[in-house]
Amino acid sequence: MELHITCIPGDGIGPEIVAEAKKVLEKVAQVYGHQMIFTDILMGGASIDAYGVPLTEQAVQTAKAADAVLMGSIGGDTATSPWYRLPPEKRPEAGLLGIRKALNLFANLRPAILYEELAGACPLKEEISKAGIDMLIMRELTGGLYFGERKTVEENGVKKAVDTLTYDENEIRRIAVKGFDIASKRRKKVTSVDKANVLDSSRLWRKVVEEVAAGYPDVKLEHMLVDNCAMQLVKNPAQFDVILTENMFGDILSDEASMVTGSIGMLASASLNETKFGLYEPSHGSAPDIAGRDIANPIATVLSAAMMLRYSFDLDREADAVESAVRQVLKDGFRTGDIMSQGCEQVGCSRMGTLLAERIG
Ligand code: NAD
Repeated sequence: MELHITCIPGDGIGPEIVAEAKKVLEKVAQVYGHQMIFTDILMGGASIDAYGVPLTEQAVQTAKAADAVLMGSIGGDTATSPWYRLPPEKRPEAGLLGIRKALNLFANLRPAILYEELAGACPLKEEISKAGIDMLIMRELTGGLYFGERKTVEENGVKKAVDTLTYDENEIRRIAVKGFDIASKRRKKVTSVDKANVLDSSRLWRKVVEEVAAGYPDVKLEHMLVDNCAMQLVKNPAQFDVILTENMFGDILSDEASMVTGSIGMLASASLNETKFGLYEPSHGSAPDIAGRDIANPIATVLSAAMMLRYSFDLDREADAVESAVRQVLKDGFRTGDIMSQGCEQVGCSRMGTLLAERIG
């Protein structure tokens, strides 16, 4: 298969971690007989330095022409970098918001997996964590409270702020379809999270999710109120497979879920549109404090590349191979500095990429 991938190395550790993900993908291509065609574009600080703007129209067109986008991370040290003396719309992060909008990425997926070998990083009691954690948060990304009308007014000398939470049935349906599609590829369970005891938008959410569920008889649907879900994530995280939820609930729950698994250097993510197209990136930032020192953990980016193989290319066998290479490398005792523990061998970013690639095939 010929795979056209646009890469955004970005800033800070971005170019280092993307180089390792490419190394692993090249090995996948070699072992499974694919051809990967990578095209790099600039975004964020790198684009500001080259073109004066965080994202050019040309870069957007290159991304749109690909089958998927693999990104490192963008941004610099917000206290010292000259990029942050620019107006907000010219700063690195404006590039990220711009590309998400241009590509219509409405579904955000964040897996939270507790690797046996990294169980020590889990802040939960062993009796809870030993049941395992392997869930995926599917968050609606372009609607709800963050995109509703907002205003601050003063009435009779009293300031009043208003934010609006709006969803229409089409917005709910398209994210629910993504959630059920992905659950069909996993353990076939969707927990739809809402606040239907209070909010109208949640009652509509529940109704539409149930309509979509009818088309997936092999996927089990359960509903959970968001406050209960926040509690269950630390009480019994093993119960979750796919958590399907709206924008703000997903924002909060995905951070909570990622923390129960430990290291930030292990957390992948994907943002998808209505087609198979997606943008895949680690959940962490550009870590300017460790950039250029070959010590960053590339695993989150490599796992994001595995998600790309699975969700944009339907290459489940290849994605499984990448994910099992990660497990194997941890089992073999290799660690980057951020996940280092006693008795393991500490390796740099580039060596970690090589060790992962060696374990494919
Ligand atoms: P960060 O995630 O970059 O770093 C937080 C801490 O985690 C740092 O100590 C860093 O060294 C460490 N860390 C992060 N990734 C690591 C990895 N792969 N291996 C080892 N250690 C790692 O968050 P921050 O410092 O708040 O932000 C730095 C910059 O990144 C800012 O400009 C911010 O705006 C940007 N950012 C970008 C994205 C994105 O591109 N999607 C996301 C978050 C932050």
